Amino acid sequence: MIPSTQPFLTRSPKPWANIPPQQWDDWHWQLDNRLNSVEELEQIINLTPEEIQGLTAKDKFRVDITPYFASLIDPDNPLCPIRRQVIPLGRELVDFVGMQEDSLAEDEHSPIPGLVHRYPDRVLMLVTTHCASYCRYCTRSRLVGDFQQTFKKNDLERQLDYIRQTPQIRDVLLSGGDPLTLSPILLDYILSRLREIVHLEIVRIGTRVPVFLPQRITDEFCNMLRKYHPLWINIHINHPKEITAELSAALAKLADAGIPLGNQSVLLAGINDRLDIQQELLCKLVKNRVRPYYIYQCDLVKGAGHFRTTVARGMEIVEGLRGHLSGYTIPTYVIDAPGGGGKIPVMPQYLISQGVNKVILRNYEGYITTYYEPEDYDPSLIDRAQPLTDMRPEIGQEGVSGLLQGKAKAIKPQGYDRTHHRGDRAVQES
Ligand SMILES: *Cc1c(COP(=O)(O)O)cnc(C)c1O
Repeated sequence: MIPSTQPFLTRSPKPWANIPPQQWDDWHWQLDNRLNSVEELEQIINLTPEEIQGLTAKDKFRVDITPYFASLIDPDNPLCPIRRQVIPLGRELVDFVGMQEDSLAEDEHSPIPGLVHRYPDRVLMLVTTHCASYCRYCTRSRLVGDFQQTFKKNDLERQLDYIRQTPQIRDVLLSGGDPLTLSPILLDYILSRLREIVHLEIVRIGTRVPVFLPQRITDEFCNMLRKYHPLWINIHINHPKEITAELSAALAKLADAGIPLGNQSVLLAGINDRLDIQQELLCKLVKNRVRPYYIYQCDLVKGAGHFRTTVARGMEIVEGLRGHLSGYTIPTYVIDAPGGGGKIPVMPQYLISQGVNKVILRNYEGYITTYYEPEDYDPSLIDRAQPLTDMRPEIGQEGVSGLLQGKAKAIKPQGYDRTHHRGDRAVQES
C-alpha cells in the first residue's frame, strides 16, 4: 500500500478535484495521465500564444508532464519556473551560434550504443530513452523521448559485456532517459548484473523521477535499491519550488535506505539565474540530506538556446556562495565541454599571486592574506614501500597530471610534430 501524500495537496487544479487520493498517489496513474496537448494543458493553465506555438510545432521535442508536476504550475504566470521547464515555447525552434544536436559528442564516445566511455575509470550507461516528464533543455533530446530509439535487451547485454571486459571501470552511471522509469524487474536485473562485476566499485543513478513523480519512491522500491549498495543517486532539482512535501518525503525514503543523494542542476535563464534563488535552493537541498554536486552551464544543444546564461552570470552566483553559505551547500560549477571533453570546473580566482615560498590568497570578503609554504618540504619522504593494491591504468588520459608526475614532457595538439619538425634533422617524437 502506497502511503497517501494527498493531505499536502491543497493546490490540485480542478480537472483532478475528483481523483481519489489512492489514484493520485499511484505512479502508474500519474504516468498514464500525463498532459501533452494544448487541449489538456488549457484546462489547467492560461497558455500564452508562444506556448501554443511551442506545443503545436511539428517536430518539437516530446512534451509529457505528470499531473503532479503540472499541479505545481502557476496557471496565470508565464514566468513560473516550474512551467518554463516543461512547457515548450516557440523560441525552442530558433537556431543559435554554436548549436549542436549532440553537443557533448556522446555518440562518438560510445563503444556500444548507449554506453559512453569518456573518462578513464567510469562509464555512462544509457538504459532507456523514456522520462517521467521532459525538460525542455534536455541535453539528449536527440534520442530521449523517442520510442523508436529506446535501447533493446541486446544493447543492454552488450553494454554489460563491455563493462565486464573493461577492468579499469570502477563506477557506472545509469542514466538515459530516466532509469527509474524502467520496469522494476528490468532495473533490478541491471543492478544485479552490475553488482556481479568484481572490478565495479560503485553504481550511481541519475534521475529526475523524485521531482516529476515522487509517488514512484515507495518503500518497496527503496528496499529493492538498497540490495545494491554502494549505490548513489543524483537527482536534478533546479528551483526551490520543486521541493514540495511530496518530494521531501521521497528524498527521506531514499536517504533512509542508505543512499547518498546528490543534486545536479542546470543554470537556466529566467528560472534560477539569481543568487537568492540559488541560495534558497541549495540550503533546502542540504536540509533534505541532498548534497549539491554540480551546477551546469546550459549545453549548446538544439532547443536550449533561450535557456542559456552567460558564464559571467554563473561566476557571480558562485562568488555569492563560497564563504557565505555552509560548504555542504556549494556545488561545483561546470561547463560540459562542447565536442566532448567532459566537465570543466570554473570558479572565481582565489589564489591571486605567488612568490617564492608564499602564496597570496583572497577570501570571499576580499580579505587578502599570505600563506607561507615550508622551505624544506620533501615530497620523497612518503612511504613508497607500501604496495598500492588497486591502481587502474589511464592509458593516454594522464593529461596535465601526467606532466606533473613526469610521465610526459608535453601535450601536443594533433599534427604538432609534423608541422614543427621541418628541418632535415630527424627529431624523435617524444
Ligand atoms: C558526467 C559524466 C560522467 C561522470 O562524471 P563525474 O564528474 O564523475 O560525475 C561520466 N561519464 C560521462 C560521459 C559523463 O558525461
